Amino acid sequence: MRCPDCGQEMDLADKSTFTGSEVRDYYCKPCKKSVVDHGGPALWQILSDAREEAESARAAEEKKTK
Ligand SMILES: [Zn+2]
Repeated sequence: MRCPDCGQEMDLADKSTFTGSEVRDYYCKPCKKSVVDHGGPALWQILSDAREEAESARAAEEKKTK
């Protein structure tokens, strides 16, 4: 994994596996920037899960304020 900013090879900071897809956390020391690499075809699943979560959180928030 190369840094999108400076093109240098990044350090693998963390690696986790959930819902069958590997998620790698890379860190670029020169840029002090971390990039998450979602390997595998399950990215759409993660994105749609995150969107659903955000929407249900917002709905709960609306109920609270009203
Ligand atoms: Zn960099």
